Amino acid sequence: MSTGRLIIDLDAVVANWRALDGMTNCKTAAVVKADGYGLGAATVAKALFKAGVRQFFVAVVEEAVAIRQELGPRPEISVFSGHMAGDTELIRTLGLTPMLNSVEQLTHHLETLPGHPFGIQLDTGMNRLGLEMQEWAAVAELALAQRPHLVMSHLACADEPDHPMNPYQLDQFRKMTDGIQVPRSLAATGGILLGPEYHFDLTRPGIGLYGGLPFAQATPVIELDLPVVQVRDVAEGEVVGYSNAWQAERPSRIATVSGGYADGIMRALSDRAVLFHGDTACPLVGRVSMDLLTIDVTDLSETPKKLSLIGPKQSVDDLARNANTIGYEVLTQLGARYNRKTYGK
Ligand SMILES: *Cc1c(COP(=O)(O)O)cnc(C)c1O
Repeated sequence: MSTGRLIIDLDAVVANWRALDGMTNCKTAAVVKADGYGLGAATVAKALFKAGVRQFFVAVVEEAVAIRQELGPRPEISVFSGHMAGDTELIRTLGLTPMLNSVEQLTHHLETLPGHPFGIQLDTGMNRLGLEMQEWAAVAELALAQRPHLVMSHLACADEPDHPMNPYQLDQFRKMTDGIQVPRSLAATGGILLGPEYHFDLTRPGIGLYGGLPFAQATPVIELDLPVVQVRDVAEGEVVGYSNAWQAERPSRIATVSGGYADGIMRALSDRAVLFHGDTACPLVGRVSMDLLTIDVTDLSETPKKLSLIGPKQSVDDLARNANTIGYEVLTQLGARYNRKTYGK
């Protein structure tokens, strides 16, 4: 097997859900969009369902198919993008709860699926999804009379606890929803950490379940090892990889490992990452190519069979930082050709 080995620990996902659930006095859902942040939506949802999770969120209706198939009719599956043209059949047959985010969607939903569950998404300043203050004022009475399952909004800056946008959005959300007799939700992972005023009746963590920041106390969920395909000696002055991007300044040993940007190892990591052999950091030298990386293993006392890209010495967020991105992107880009081993419940 010459592809990387991706180990996914479902017990860690469950432990993270329990830890986040324990920080609030309200219900805790689980966000499993983008194939469970790249880790496998059906297996993640199954483990969380066994642990007691009864509400799941996806981004688009198509993502709900595998989850409904795995979990059966019981859990509520809600859809952030709401009810778009063409979604009606899947919403009906899978029993999904769209989070309606415009007057147009609300009208479309009530006309095509009268009596079918729905929620409402409000925009409190992020300007991405949801009804704005004026629109909500115009349709709130009509919408609330149909008993939505949830009224929700989303925070733009919750990963920065001191950002003034957080209390601003909280205030907007309260102005739009105080006094209604419907469950409310504002917090994702970052919002849970902001404290009880942000929790309302339901939280919607995603990234924290998968071990990513801003949930710094999370249990790590994945490990990724890449196999060494060959090792060669390179003389001082010789070059390595595309565009001769790296030149040996001393006699070196270079390991070529299986894994590249086609596996989600961002090309931006060229010359900016390390892989680990035990506790020893080995620098990635030269360009990341589609299927391969070249690693300077000169300082190792033995020839490695594999090197660790994500593991105890380097977290998903460490790697993300070097690529100038966030853990969310590293996770959701994890390649399809890795040898995936999912263990736990
Ligand atoms: C992705 C998403 C979440 C989950 O956010 P995390 O930061 O991953 O916890 C919650 N709510 C909405 C609307 C989202 O788009």
